[in-house]
Amino acid sequence: MYDYDLLVVGSANADLVIDVERRPGAGETVLGGDLAVHPGGKGANQAVAAARLGARTALLARVGDDAHGRLLLDSQRAAGVDTAGVLVGGAPTGVALITVDPSGDNSIVVSPGANGRLTPADVQNADRLLRSSRVVSAQLEIPLETVVAVAASLEPGSLFVLNPSPPRPLPAVLLAACDTLIVNEHEAKVILGEERLGGAPEDWARTLLARGPKSVVVTLGSEGALVATAEGVARIASVMVDAVDTTGAGDSFTAALAWKLGTGSSLAEAAAYAARVGAVAVTRRGAQESFPTADEVEALAS
Ligand code: ADP
Repeated sequence: MYDYDLLVVGSANADLVIDVERRPGAGETVLGGDLAVHPGGKGANQAVAAARLGARTALLARVGDDAHGRLLLDSQRAAGVDTAGVLVGGAPTGVALITVDPSGDNSIVVSPGANGRLTPADVQNADRLLRSSRVVSAQLEIPLETVVAVAASLEPGSLFVLNPSPPRPLPAVLLAACDTLIVNEHEAKVILGEERLGGAPEDWARTLLARGPKSVVVTLGSEGALVATAEGVARIASVMVDAVDTTGAGDSFTAALAWKLGTGSSLAEAAAYAARVGAVAVTRRGAQESFPTADEVEALAS
């Protein structure tokens, strides 16, 4: 009945990465290693993660009419994502300028570029995509009013999954529209603000749930995740793996969970599957390059 299992509405960035011995101070120049350019951005990452698992996936995003935009479109298409909803032009493609020091710490400057020009009108113009998608997922690397417009444009019967990253206080109308709100510890802290007052992750999950989403998932890195609904809070065990790079783990987790929810899995089943997807992703370097196929998730020992 639906053309797409998942529509991702969100950002697409070119990640420009240079290894440095140390960061430059003001007015200073340092030499770094060779430039590496990777497709990234939370929206683009989620779409690739879902498509690689076998979900029929579409992306609604905006890139510039430039080489970075073409790189992003190519990586989406290579993963099998339908890119008819990717708008081109209006500003340069979003870029993350990343320097990595020998200890592995990152310093990042983000230029949202075209991501910041994805407007509520763009969402209205994409009503066909919204109507044909079982699940719609969004993050916050595009304007908040655009995400609010997505929530307001949902078809009855479709599901809305929000990963509020980077986090900021959220309007009640957006929280109330969420079938599932997925947060890590930092995001939970920012959204709850002063209400958090210490406490255990179970408490954050309950407090977030009281703000309006139908369900809440708190991801806890190597500790797995929590799922919270009106019926209660349950812990989802993580899969023991040797983690080498956690970049993109949250994006692959969110994509997998959103897709599985749409196929009729319970929240706990979907989160358990998503934990396996995230676990494979952390065993490999990079973001999109690290996302597994369904067979690779299957092959992961429990
Ligand atoms: P984010 O990247 O948004 O901070 P997390 O780091 O919590 O998200 O990772 C998302 C999910 O990926 C976790 O809930 C967990 O299921 C899985 N995961 C992340 N890190 C590990 C790890 N070191 N070992 C096993 N699973 C992991």
